[in-house]
Amino acid sequence: MENQAATHAFWLAGRRTAGEDVLEVTSPWDGRLVGRAAVPTEAEVEEALAAAYAVREEFAATPAHVRAAALDHVSRRLVERTEEIARLISAENGKPMKWARGEVGRAVSVFRFAAEEARRFNGGEAQRLDTDAGGAGRLAFTRRFPKGVVLGIAPFNFPLNLCAHKIAPALAVGTPIILKPAPATPLSGLLLGELLSETELPAGSWSVLPVPNERMPALVQDERLPVISFTGSDKVGFQIMDSVPRKHCTLELGGNGAAVVLGDWASEQDLDWAATRIAAFANYQGGQSCISVQRVIADASLYERLVPRIVAAVAAQVTGDPADDATDVGPLVSEDAAKRVESWVEEAIAAGAKLLTGGKRDGAGYAPTVLAEVPAEVTLSCEEAFGPVLTLQSADSEEAAFAAVNDSKYGLQAGVFTHDVQAAFRAHRALEVGGVIIGDVPSYRADQMPYGGVKQSGVGREGVRFAMDDYTYERVMVLTGL
Ligand code: NAD
Repeated sequence: MENQAATHAFWLAGRRTAGEDVLEVTSPWDGRLVGRAAVPTEAEVEEALAAAYAVREEFAATPAHVRAAALDHVSRRLVERTEEIARLISAENGKPMKWARGEVGRAVSVFRFAAEEARRFNGGEAQRLDTDAGGAGRLAFTRRFPKGVVLGIAPFNFPLNLCAHKIAPALAVGTPIILKPAPATPLSGLLLGELLSETELPAGSWSVLPVPNERMPALVQDERLPVISFTGSDKVGFQIMDSVPRKHCTLELGGNGAAVVLGDWASEQDLDWAATRIAAFANYQGGQSCISVQRVIADASLYERLVPRIVAAVAAQVTGDPADDATDVGPLVSEDAAKRVESWVEEAIAAGAKLLTGGKRDGAGYAPTVLAEVPAEVTLSCEEAFGPVLTLQSADSEEAAFAAVNDSKYGLQAGVFTHDVQAAFRAHRALEVGGVIIGDVPSYRADQMPYGGVKQSGVGREGVRFAMDDYTYERVMVLTGL
């Protein structure tokens, strides 16, 4: 790998390219320069676009075994280079090493799943049409074809794996992709380009371009890019979708994940497990995950027993240097992000919320924080905290708990701690979210399962095969005279 403080080239139509300008990437932990990302000029972006557009048919015709072999190669190389890539993620994002290694492991799976799906993906279905008189002697046959070149836009919080979720399904279905990593964390996406450059995929089928935000609206408008797959904030996501109403947009946006603890989850062991999981996943990556736990809604019958356990487990989270293996919680992505979280907590406390632990900022670091009695109208109750902050509330009934989960503009995932299978099905029916996790926090995501939100949390689904469906459409062929 290149020296981490060196300039990292971008990938124009699969070709390592130096560009003219650079973007400095600094560590949120100590401000040191982690590396420089080369930035493409407008002419270079145009070249990548033209190459992607021109290679569409050739790429769609590339045999599945060639695409699958390339995806398997990337998966293997990620395994081989796990430690070094985890260090890069940790350095540019501030993510503790234990979580950074986990992120590389997930990207390994994403490429492996994409290789497996590439081998079987077809979508073909034969349908007899002679069930109606007019269809006698006819057979409908469908196959899936790419919608066109994908523009994949990734956020900073999983700088490797969310790039993987954009690019691997595109390569699996044989559709070209322009990947745009986040400006705070472009180096992991560029490194993925390095691994892809070792494969035999056709030139032009993929590019990784750290295009500056101010030049993105023009790229979003480009008619050669009919599919936009965006992961990031609801503000930017809906702005994009509103600006291109005729394009196919998948939006993976924010959330304020709730963990519900129902009345039957009441043994000492149950409560300890719930508290441990809640504390870990309210704070993993400094709470900067779209499905981190932000709200705990616990049955009133066990609330008083659960609260001290959660507070103790949160206070026990080890904060510090993300490069240190013992660290649970590193800094937020920037000091500004930590200041925003600080101001929301202060606003909640001023309005009457009770601070149970945390509530302190140190530069870009924010201490894992638990609040109770947070008024409904404060920002923290309405918005995505995207920081290590947890709010606790009790509910008098299951219905009240589910209503509290739904009392949000977001709907990404919810966790429900219960042993009662009937209650699990009631939760599945009642909760307005993209995923209900029974017996665990909302933060569980397996990379092959359908993943995405409703309401302001997004539109469409990712998860390898679901993104492959999203990037393609069904074209029917009717055979006559059979
Ligand atoms: P962001 O919206 O600020 O940026 C996301 C991406 O959009 C970046 O690559 C950015 O450079 C790009 N961008 C910014 N302005 C743009 C424009 N005008 N046109 C096109 N692209 C533009 O989000 P972020 O701060 O990087 O990420 C945090 C957000 O992402 C949180 O809200 C989080 O919940 C969400 N997120 C969602 C999921 C999910 O799968 N649902 C996963 C991770 C993060």
